Amino acid sequence: MTAHVRPKALDDFKARDFRMLIDGAWTQGAGSAIERVAPGHGTVVSRYPAGTGADAERAIAAARRAFDDGPWPTMTGAERSNILLKAADLIAARADELAFLDCIESGKPISQAKGELGGAADIWRYAAALARDLHGESYNTLGQGTLGVVLRDAVGVVSIITPWNFPFLIVSQKLPFALAAGCTTIVKPSELTSGSTLVLGEILIEAGVPAGVVNIVTGTGPEVGSVMTTHPHVDMVSFTGSTGVGRLTMANAAQTLKKVSLELGGKNPQIVFPDADLDAFVDAAVFGAWFNAGECCNAGSRLILHKDIAADVTTRIAELSRQVKVGDPLDPTTQVGAIITPQHLDRIGTYVDDAAKAGASISLGGAALDLGLGQFMAPTILSGVAPEMAVAREEVFGPVLSVLTFETTNEAIRIANAIDYGLSASVWSRDFDTCLTIGRKVRAGTVWMNTFMDGASELPFGGYKQSGLGRELGRHAVEDYTETKTLNMHVGARTSWWVPR
Ligand code: NDP
Repeated sequence: MTAHVRPKALDDFKARDFRMLIDGAWTQGAGSAIERVAPGHGTVVSRYPAGTGADAERAIAAARRAFDDGPWPTMTGAERSNILLKAADLIAARADELAFLDCIESGKPISQAKGELGGAADIWRYAAALARDLHGESYNTLGQGTLGVVLRDAVGVVSIITPWNFPFLIVSQKLPFALAAGCTTIVKPSELTSGSTLVLGEILIEAGVPAGVVNIVTGTGPEVGSVMTTHPHVDMVSFTGSTGVGRLTMANAAQTLKKVSLELGGKNPQIVFPDADLDAFVDAAVFGAWFNAGECCNAGSRLILHKDIAADVTTRIAELSRQVKVGDPLDPTTQVGAIITPQHLDRIGTYVDDAAKAGASISLGGAALDLGLGQFMAPTILSGVAPEMAVAREEVFGPVLSVLTFETTNEAIRIANAIDYGLSASVWSRDFDTCLTIGRKVRAGTVWMNTFMDGASELPFGGYKQSGLGRELGRHAVEDYTETKTLNMHVGARTSWWVPR
């Protein structure tokens, strides 16, 4: 192993010490510290408190008080909206600082981290608009004696648990919508990438979010997250992470029947027909597979290519992939950064080795890259993958692309649907009927047609099957953080129940 070379961009950098936010105050908490070693640089870049169960309980108590007695739930939508808009402005103003933290803590390329910050600020603005437009229904059709009003009522205290792969973007897919609805929250970022979420705490205080409305507790899932998902004073859990921990979260929340929203893993197929614009597809395949080093729930990690084009298209994807720059996440020209931890790099390598043993051939890459920085994986293409192989069914969460083939449309749909996940998919064809047939029959929360991984704050995002429960983004996102309450109002004299008519 080559010794780590500290990049010039980190010359003046000192590891940053963070504290947690509980009830409006910054605190070290009762536990020790977590040190984050940058995956792309091999050097300590952040220290956060290792929060304890007791810290989580204090945060939950603060959120409960802020919901039951504080001003946030009863403010007007316009007042909440203005605070969220101020937060969006502050996020934009501190975007470089936030992107830098996400880059060094997660190992993603700095140019990509900056793009995510732009997207996140837009989501906060969109949620601010929804805060003013949250409304229920009324029924004036129930007869002279009845008026029905259906209210959208904030669900209460929400635990928000996020993963390491898109630290700032994912908290932004949850928190502003919960706040727009009038909820109060406890947020637990991943222990690997807590920095930008803690800076968000500073931003929200400056924007005017009252004490106790947003509490941020750092630490591990088993210590902090387990309290956040079981505590009786929490009304809802919004979780993004692996399907395994999602399942555990749901079981934990079931003890007190909390509302649950889950965004979990994916093994997303791109189905390609011979009549597609193959230049456009090859570009999208490279993007879909290597974006965020494949550490992406939406990664296009499973190509299902028509057999007539499979060999040629695979060669073209490999050629283009050789030009993709893997390297120092802080270099603005880098396109693929580091792998989150050495353990995760080993796990990715095991998937590749097992696939090769099972008969797949390695068309590109296949091993870790020693760049003298942190841990990196070469973009890897596996061809001749059979649908039953683990690498075709399970989420590798690394830069590993599996190529499968099909002959008929029905076979493509069958292969696409024959796994436990259903997050997203795409279809490539110039034929309208082909696109719509695939779009309707593939069981996934998003189906792209002749594009891949495009998104917008307005469009709902989430999974079928074991990819999740509920939807984020879109106009219904804010409704996920509400209860529905019926006001059934009687008008005029009431007919007595026991007096015969
Ligand atoms: P994990 O499931 O390991 O962790 C997610 C979060 O859950 C972390 O904050 C973690 O804490 C916490 N956690 C761990 N154990 C518990 C527990 N017992 N109780 C409560 N919380 C717990 O996922 P990763 O962080 O490894 O993220 C990668 C996964 O996330 C991938 O599978 C990916 O597909 C999925 N993902 C899904 C997305 C979607 O929208 N569908 C988007 C992005 C990622 P800690 O790790 O700090 O201990």
